[in-house]
Amino acid sequence: MRIPFIGGNWKMNLSLDEAVQFVIDIKDKLPDPKNVETALAASPLFLESMLKANGSSPLHVTAENCFYKNEGAYTGEVSPKALSQMGIPYVIVGHSERRRYFNETNDIINKKVHAVLSNGMRPILCCDETMGRLETGDRIHWVVNQVTAGLKGISEKDALKVVIAYEPSWAIGTGHSASTTEAEEGCYLIRQTLADIYSDDVANQIRILYGGSVDPDNIVALMKQIDIDGILAGKSSLKSKEFLELANYQD
Ligand code: PEP
Repeated sequence: MRIPFIGGNWKMNLSLDEAVQFVIDIKDKLPDPKNVETALAASPLFLESMLKANGSSPLHVTAENCFYKNEGAYTGEVSPKALSQMGIPYVIVGHSERRRYFNETNDIINKKVHAVLSNGMRPILCCDETMGRLETGDRIHWVVNQVTAGLKGISEKDALKVVIAYEPSWAIGTGHSASTTEAEEGCYLIRQTLADIYSDDVANQIRILYGGSVDPDNIVALMKQIDIDGILAGKSSLKSKEFLELANYQD
């Protein structure tokens, strides 16, 4: 059974005080992690304080990014080893903003997936898609390529630890989510790709999230889709009330 996964990605928002207060406000109101897992990805500067505020609550305090080397002369980068030592369980890798603004290629993202796994954490591997690709029908090639390249050299055992997020850039931050059909098609395409790389059995165990303008009004319909196992939310994860509505979408 694939346990639903509800993730938030704060990006470069909120202050340290707001981040800590947010965790305090939600930590006793989250669903049972046997039924729904929850995660919030934040700036590395906030993680230590969030972990302390979180205590033993089921929330996964998550990193938004990391580098692919554990240590060395890489000024300003975030070490995956250091994140692991802090007790961070998940790291987002390959978000469309990293691909677009920081020129992260599939090769770099693949190295990051390896680095996260080899440090005992789990990657949330994001695959994006531009409107042009949806319109010209290039979508299949583009999405398949990102999944295949991102998981290059990853064993079947490690692949089971990966969460994949289908995040069309034409829906991110626009207030216009993909339709349930479009979101399901993207996630189905990713599951078929996983079956081709590994097997049906492995593909059926890996969680695939949809991200792009998810909010408390559209989450239930999205979560009803066969291949959508969870969501990754940006804007609607920035207010604790809305994030709790997403996390408790089953109520
Ligand atoms: C995101 O950036 O991962 C995202 C899904 O953002 P939003 O929910 O704001 O579209």
